[in-house]
Order: sequence, then structure tokens, then C-alpha cells
Amino acid sequence: MTASTHYDCIVVGGGVSGTALLYELARFTDLKRLLLLERRDRPAQVNSHAHNNSQTIHCGDIETNYTLTKAAAVKRTASMIVNYATKLPARERDGIIHRMPKMVLGVGERECNYLRNRYETFRELYPRMQLLERSDIADIEPNVALTDGAWRKEEIVATGTPDDYCAVDFQALSESFSAQCVQMDRTGDKTVSQLYGTEVTDIKKDGSDYVLQTSRGPMLARSVVVCAGGHSLLMAQKMGFGLEYSCLPVAGSFYFAPEALNGKVYTVQNPKLPFAAVHGDHDIVTEGKTRFGPTALMLPMLERYNKSTIRDFFQVLNLDRDVIATLWDLMKVSDIRNYVLRNFLYEAPWLNRRLFVREIQKIVPDLSARDIEYAHGYGGVRPQLIDRKARELKMGEVKIIDGHGVVFNMTPSPGGTSCLGNAEQDVRLVAEHLGARVDWDAFERELLCGHEDTRGVSAPVLAAVS
Ligand SMILES: Cc1cc2nc3c(=O)[nH]c(=O)nc-3n(C[C@H](O)[C@H](O)[C@H](O)COP(=O)(O)OP(=O)(O)OC[C@H]3O[C@@H](n4cnc5c(N)ncnc54)[C@H](O)[C@@H]3O)c2cc1C
Repeated sequence: MTASTHYDCIVVGGGVSGTALLYELARFTDLKRLLLLERRDRPAQVNSHAHNNSQTIHCGDIETNYTLTKAAAVKRTASMIVNYATKLPARERDGIIHRMPKMVLGVGERECNYLRNRYETFRELYPRMQLLERSDIADIEPNVALTDGAWRKEEIVATGTPDDYCAVDFQALSESFSAQCVQMDRTGDKTVSQLYGTEVTDIKKDGSDYVLQTSRGPMLARSVVVCAGGHSLLMAQKMGFGLEYSCLPVAGSFYFAPEALNGKVYTVQNPKLPFAAVHGDHDIVTEGKTRFGPTALMLPMLERYNKSTIRDFFQVLNLDRDVIATLWDLMKVSDIRNYVLRNFLYEAPWLNRRLFVREIQKIVPDLSARDIEYAHGYGGVRPQLIDRKARELKMGEVKIIDGHGVVFNMTPSPGGTSCLGNAEQDVRLVAEHLGARVDWDAFERELLCGHEDTRGVSAPVLAAVS
């Protein structure tokens, strides 16, 4: 193996997680030889592509399924994106993060009471958040509060911020991380390489090193971090790690309506349901459209619109009695059963628009089935894991660590928002393993200060370890 193919750390996967990690390793550690390998020909062509997710910076204020503790941790990592982007030149910043109104809407007495109480608990953590009565909502989002020019009939209230950085193009963010790495490679004393169009087919431990078989030949590294979505689990299991998990890919599709919202309007989450309730978002890349969704449909493929990943899905499904029992337990809950059925019908031609419009009408009552269209080619897949031992569906990100220099990240929503926070955890792991130095002062200056100061908030503990 030549020196040119021997690295301190190789990152596999060039979505927002992998590029964020390469950026942090290059910017804040003293490691000299870094490499990113991505099988597509550009960064962020899978779940981090701007068409494939909801483009939301989830900071915990409008996500009613988050506890206060979870919200505080999410706020820290979400702020890292805003702190990073607001230090860029204005033109670059404006291509990545966007200011707009955002709110979570309560409809009917029960949801309105719930939101009023939640506001009292969360307002200290989110000083800019406001309680929005119907006239405030009408000022910000007239199509939500009014129907045919008159007040809508149901009681409504919302909590949110009228103007905040809450939308992000994760693809542009990945491209920015990638460009910063090119710059560091050109101008500094480090090798920070990125090889696109390069697929990793196998990872093996060889003494204290890892050998990666790739479509460009073998590459050698002292540590490896895999940020390849559902494929991370496939690679982990090939190495004998994470065998307690099965992967359930849950696709999310969207519907377009003509511009109906000025910002983001989320709805109150049913606590029995595992995925975010339907929301409406002013699309930041598809002009003149409001995007509603996402739906939640189990699909037998690890990447949306990529049939070659069907085989990979069956390898990580690991269908056995425990997986079947977990799915059976989930389906015993009538709310989940109905939700699964409804989401199946949201993909059925002709019927889909007529059924999905009812979800949309909770947000914008005047929209009809004629106004909306299925967003073909949009949407991604959330690689949700099932813990077969515990017989439970894991909701957030999962990290598998062998303790000897290899890490595997599985990143369903809100994995885009957590990219820099996840990378921080991986930087710690890699630096500890290799005995590298991390410039935490620079890290704090660049990512924990600026638009939002989160220096007092401790870093979240590792999500899951095996
Ligand atoms: C419908 C939907 C809505 C969402 N909305 C939001 C949201 O509003 N906010 C939010 O924070 N998150 C959201 N998410 C989640 C978010 O999109 C993901 O968490 C995030 O994009 C994950 O980034 P990633 O880099 O880990 O994975 P990806 O972006 O999927 O990147 C993985 C990369 O690994 C590469 N790869 C795979 N196998 C190999 C291999 N063998 N060799 C080399 N490369 C390989 C792939 O080509 C890909 O580029 C949403 C997800 C979905 C599906």
C-alpha cells in the first residue's frame, strides 16, 4: 500500500453528515491525512438533497414530540448550523439558511390547550418564541387563519417565531463543507481529499489499520467513520457489528400546492405515532410552491428511486421472530395501524390527492384536491432501526462503535439538523482513538457562538453504542 492511499481517517458517505465530519476533522484536529469517499458524483445526492427532505432546522421549539431535555440538546446542535452559516459571506449564507416564519398550529380545544401549556414550559428555553392567537396567525399566515376571507370556524392557536433562521438547504450546506475542505487541502499543510464516484464495497480490519475495498482500489486508514445512511448498517453487519439491529426504511413523499404559506407550519404530533405529523413548508429551492408532507411508507429499498438498493434492504432487514414481533406490537396500536394504511393510500394514484388533501386542510382549509399535485421524484427514505433485543423501533440517530477506530452512523430525521453535532461526537471518538489534538477553543468560537450562544449547554451523550 503506498503512502498516498494511507489515511488517518476515512469518512464514507458524502451527504451532510459525512461532509460535516470531514470539515470538522480538517478544521479542528491536528490530523494530517483525511479522505472522504462518496459513490455519487457530487455531495448530497441522497437524503441530504434539497428535494428529498423537509429543509427544516429542527431546534425543538415546534416539535411537540420532543421533551424539554431533548429540545435543549437539539437546540444546541441546530444552532451549530446557523452559527456556521452566519459566519460565511452573506451571498453564501443566503444560499444555505433562510429566515421565515415558523409555527406549530393547534386546531380545536384540546390541541389549543395543549399548546398553551407547552408554551409555558418551553418559553424560557426559546426566548424568541411567541404564543400566537388567531389574529397573530392571520398576520403571518393568512391562509391558515382565514377561509374565504372570514375566520375559520375551529379554535386555533400557535406557538412560533415570525422571523427566524429555520429553513436550510442541506445540499448547499454539504457543498459548503466540501468547498471549505478543498480550500484547506490547497492552502494548509494537510491532505484533505474527496473522491466522488467512488464506492466502498468492503471494510476489513488489518492489524491496527482498516482496509477499504473501493471501486478505485484498496485504501488504508487508521480509523473509519461510515455516514452512508441505511448502508452504514449494511457495512457494520458485514463486519459483525450491530447485528442486534434490523433496518426499516420509511419513505417520505411530498405534495405541492401553489404558494400558500410564507413559512413553515407544523401540526401537533399524535404521541402514539412514530413520525412527524404532516406540515406545510415554503419550499426554498422549488420556486412558487408550498410543500406538504412528508408521508410515511415502508419501502423495501435503502435509497429512494434506486432499485439496486432493494437487495441491500433484504440484507439488513434480518427478518426473524423478534422483528416480526416488534412490527406486530406496533400494528396492534390502532392509531399506528390506521396511520400505516392511510400512508399506503397516499401513494395510490387518483385516490392519493383526494385523501391527502384532508391532512392539508387542517393547515390551509381552502385548498382542495384540484390544487395539489404529488411531487414526483421528491422525497427520501428514513433508515429507522429496530432493536431486535429490546423489540423496539428506534426513533432518532443510532451510532455503532467498535471501540477500535470504526464508527457507523444511521441518520433518520432530524439527522440533517444534527450533522455538526453528530460530527462533534465522531471527532471526539476518532481523536481519542488516534491520540489526536482537538482545538476545542476554535470549535467553540465557530460553532457554539455567534447567532446563538450555546456554550453553557453540554454536548448530548452518544445516542446508541454497541
Ligand atoms: C422525507 C424526509 C424528510 C426529512 N426532513 C428533515 C428535515 O426537515 N430536517 C432534518 O434535519 N432532517 C430531515 N430528514 C432527515 C435528513 O434528510 C437526513 O437525516 C440526512 O440527510 C442524513 O444525511 P446523511 O449524510 O447521513 O445521509 P445521506 O444524505 O443519505 O448520505 C449518505 C451518503 O452515503 C453514500 N453512500 C452509501 N453507500 C455508499 C458506499 N458503499 N460507498 C460510498 N458512498 C456510499 C450515499 O451515496 C449518500 O451520498 C428528512 C428525511 C426524509 C426522508
